[in-house]
Amino acid sequence: MVALKHRNLKLFTIALALFAITIMSFLLNYTQNSGLVLWNPEKYFRFSGPFIRFITSVRRPCSCETCVSETEISQWFDERFNYTFSPLLTKQNNVVSENTYTWWMKLQGEKKPMDINQAIEEMFKVIPGDNNLLNPNPYRCRTCAVVGNSGNLKGSDYGPDIDSHNFVLRMNHAPTARFEKDVGNKTTHHFVYPESMRDLRDNVSMVLIPFKTLDLQWIVSALTTGTINFTYAPVPRKIKVTKDQILVYHPDFMKYIYDKWLFHHGRYPSTGILSVIFALHVCDQVDLYGFGADSKGNWHHYWENNPSAGAFRQTGVHDGDFEAEIIGNLTSINKIKVYGGR
Ligand code: C5P
Repeated sequence: MVALKHRNLKLFTIALALFAITIMSFLLNYTQNSGLVLWNPEKYFRFSGPFIRFITSVRRPCSCETCVSETEISQWFDERFNYTFSPLLTKQNNVVSENTYTWWMKLQGEKKPMDINQAIEEMFKVIPGDNNLLNPNPYRCRTCAVVGNSGNLKGSDYGPDIDSHNFVLRMNHAPTARFEKDVGNKTTHHFVYPESMRDLRDNVSMVLIPFKTLDLQWIVSALTTGTINFTYAPVPRKIKVTKDQILVYHPDFMKYIYDKWLFHHGRYPSTGILSVIFALHVCDQVDLYGFGADSKGNWHHYWENNPSAGAFRQTGVHDGDFEAEIIGNLTSINKIKVYGGR
C-alpha cells in the first residue's frame, strides 16, 4: 500500500515537472516569437547558468542544428539583433516612424518627396502587402543562401550547394544564366531598387528596396500606367512581375540596420548587408556566397570580365570594410557561414 502511494507520488511529481516545463517553454517561445516579454525567468530566479541553459534548450526557436535567432549565446549579437523589427512593409505594418523618415528622405536627396504615408497607401492599392515571411516555429528549419555579386564566385562550383537551400536570395543585376555552375539556378527572392531592376523569372519574389518616395511611386507606375522611366537614372517603364510576388523592404528596418548594426558607418547600408540582416530575421540557417574580394583582392562582379572594375567598392556610399567586419563577427559566433572564393 505504502509502495503504491510512493509510486503515485513519484508519477505525480514527474507529471507536475513536465507540466511546469511545458508551460515555461510555451511562455519563452511566445516571448521569443512575438517580441513581447511575457515571462523572463532571470527576473524570478537568481540562478542563471545551467538552469537557464536547460530551459532555453527546451524552447529552441527552430529545428536546425543551430538557429540564427537564438539569443543568449553572444552578447555582441544580442546587442544588435532585435526581433521586434519587421523586415517588410506590409498593410499591417505600414507606418514609417518620423525618425526614420527624416533620415531616409535624405539618402538620395529627393527634390520633391511625396508624402510617404500617401505613397504607401497608393502602393497598397496595387500590391497586396500581406506577406511578412515571419512564421518561425520550433519545427521549422528554413535554410537560406544569400548570394552577393562578388567575382569570387567565378570557378567556385557552388551552384548545387546554393540551390539546395530553401530560400535563395539574390540581388541587383545578378544573372544566373551561363553562370549556373558557380552561382546556381534557383532564386526565391531578388532584392532590387528601381535603378537595379532586371527581368525576373516567374515565381521569383521581387523585394523592392525603396530609397525614396519616388521608388514607391515607380512600382505603382511600373505595374500600371508606365509613366515613370527616370529617377536619377533610367528605370524600366514596365515590369513583368506578378503583383502577389512583390515585397517591399521596410524603411524602419533599414534604419535599424544603420543604427544598430552599422553604427552609422557609410551613408547607408549596401544591398548586400540589407539582404544579410534580412536573412537573419526570416531564416533559421544563413549561408553567404559571393561576398568579399576574390583571392587577388579584386572587387568586381562575377559576370564582369574586367577584375579591376571594383564595382562594389566604387560606390563611395557604403562602408565595405565595416560591413565586412559585421559579416566576420557573425561568422566567428557561428550565426552564419561564409563560403569564400576557392
Ligand atoms: O555591386 P552590388 O551592390 O550589386 O552587389 C551586391 C552586394 O554583393 C554588395 O552590396 C556587396 O555586399 C556584395 N559584393 C561583394 N563583393 C563584390 C561585389 C559585391 O561583397 N566584389
